[in-house]
Amino acid sequence: MLPVQKHSKSRKRKRRSHHALKPIHYVRCPQCGSSKLPHCACDNCGYVNPKLALQMDTDQA
Ligand SMILES: [Zn+2]
Repeated sequence: MLPVQKHSKSRKRKRRSHHALKPIHYVRCPQCGSSKLPHCACDNCGYVNPKLALQMDTDQA
């Protein structure tokens, strides 16, 4: 099956105007200063918020 009618360049470009990717938002960890995703534990030190921090293994990466 083929499309009934060709879509114009402008119609195609208007549709694709919403397809751009947004940059990933990072925040700085207040504990160690490395970048982390907001509302997630820090990969480096395990810090989540002042009440909660995950225990990180020291020998395994
Ligand atoms: Zn950290």
